[in-house]
Amino acid sequence: MNKISPRAGILDIAPYVGGRESVEGVANPVKLSANETPLGPSPKAVEAAKAALSSMERYPDGGAKALREAIAAKYGLDAARIVCGAGSDELLHLLAQAYLNPGDEAIASAHGFLVYPIVTKAADAKIVFVPETNLTADVDAILAAQTASTRIVFLANPNNPTGTYLPFSEVKRLREGLREDVLLVLDAAYAEYVRRNDYEAGIELVATHENVVMTRTFSKVYGLAAMRLGWAYCPASVADVLNRIRGPFNVNVPAMMAGIAAVEDQAHIDKAVAHNEKWLAWLTEEISALGLEAVPSVANFLAIGFPETKGKTAAKADAFLGSRGLILRSIASYGLPSYLRLTVGTEEANKRVVAALKEFMDK
Ligand SMILES: *Cc1c(COP(=O)(O)O)cnc(C)c1O
Repeated sequence: MNKISPRAGILDIAPYVGGRESVEGVANPVKLSANETPLGPSPKAVEAAKAALSSMERYPDGGAKALREAIAAKYGLDAARIVCGAGSDELLHLLAQAYLNPGDEAIASAHGFLVYPIVTKAADAKIVFVPETNLTADVDAILAAQTASTRIVFLANPNNPTGTYLPFSEVKRLREGLREDVLLVLDAAYAEYVRRNDYEAGIELVATHENVVMTRTFSKVYGLAAMRLGWAYCPASVADVLNRIRGPFNVNVPAMMAGIAAVEDQAHIDKAVAHNEKWLAWLTEEISALGLEAVPSVANFLAIGFPETKGKTAAKADAFLGSRGLILRSIASYGLPSYLRLTVGTEEANKRVVAALKEFMDK
């Protein structure tokens, strides 16, 4: 008999399923299912990572000082309050481990990022999903769900997979309505892409409050998803906690070096953001013109709503696009079975998607 068993909660976790990479029988499909940048990383980041490979026998700087300083300089932050991780996923795990006791509750919005239930259940705590309004997080609903057991509120802003966002006024209202012992985790993975005057990623709230953390990633606009690099901006007390429980060398040297070069290459970021702004608007317009629902997005992807009509459903569209070498993301697991998520791609990929959708919709 097997006597070993994991802690409570773990066997309730549905393993995270990433964006599909391939379609059977289709050579060289275009992957538009994981919100990766079509421009790739800064060539300077690639050079820096390659150069770092020449001294693999040496441990990294466990404090990631040079990287924290580069991030601090770029975003105007206090380097001492930045904690780096192997992707922001690691930081989300650490926050849950540190601040959730067994039986505590963490709140996320109905169609929020699926890493939140994973990290919450891994801490033997309970995830509470609250309804959204127009596929957007609803501050009143989140506040109404707050109980004596609530310890964390996870908010992806903008949210994946919907692409919608809360303006700063709403995020502030959310924080003001939370008890002081509830940690607000603002996951701003797509912050660099947002072109809205009423948006703020979280820096201001972290600077002025003890119960707000902002997480960021190098996986999206910086194009370093394979390197696994993320960071959190924290109150000093939270940074201290994370630094006690993280792996002492949780960020590898090539990732660190690539990250430093990437934040310093502003021209490359500007190019990626400009590309996204142009093609996100174009895709939204073209897809709406086909009679499909294009959920208003401020990120580098778009949720597309399909009708229930036989033959025209999201599942059928997914198969049809796949057969044409275009891989989108089913978001049924996010409670959105009639939607597919499309990552903004190269000009060529975007045009192929619209042409294929036209054909699919018989337009
Ligand atoms: C992609 C994404 C991340 C980034 O995860 P990494 O572990 O840094 O690659 C975090 N949050 C959301 C909402 C995302 O979509």
